[in-house]
Amino acid sequence: MGYFQKSSEILKPVEDKSAMFMGVPLVIDSLDFACKAEVCRGKIAIAGFQRLQDYLVNNSGELGYAVIGALDENRRPVLRVDIQGVVNLQCQRCLEELEHVLDIHTELLLAQNEQELQSFDEDKYVDCILAQPDMDVLALIEDEIILGLPVSPRHEQSECTSGGREEGKAIREVSPFAALAALKKTH
Ligand SMILES: [Zn+2]
Repeated sequence: MGYFQKSSEILKPVEDKSAMFMGVPLVIDSLDFACKAEVCRGKIAIAGFQRLQDYLVNNSGELGYAVIGALDENRRPVLRVDIQGVVNLQCQRCLEELEHVLDIHTELLLAQNEQELQSFDEDKYVDCILAQPDMDVLALIEDEIILGLPVSPRHEQSECTSGGREEGKAIREVSPFAALAALKKTH
């Protein structure tokens, strides 16, 4: 019935959780933050990341994050960025949802000017960014998430519903769920 076809087309309302960010210091003076060894941590609704949406099949859930200011072993200011959570990507083989676990730990060296940024950039063992007096923590976290996403996300072969199509009859016979999955796919 047309009724069922339509129901899958109804977009889930995107909840505006921006109010959740209130009270969280989302803009930091990055050098000052590092030198004072400040820490900012919390949870962010995935729906709050605008650019990340292009990579996701849905934006439910939230991510835990921590941004930690510190000095590295050479006493240079750094920001350590930790991000944990699960995002739902699209498998490039079967186009179904693919849970991707984020467990990001990055250390970003803060360059105080363009010249320093260039010299830091020559060291392939460090990631560096230009220090800003008004660094947007959300944008920084979003950058790190997007940089860490797989270029072509795919299920493991054994978990991918398109296995039947690629491997021919064999898999369809051993997996009674393949037909169900194929039905779901055609919505
Ligand atoms: Zn798949």
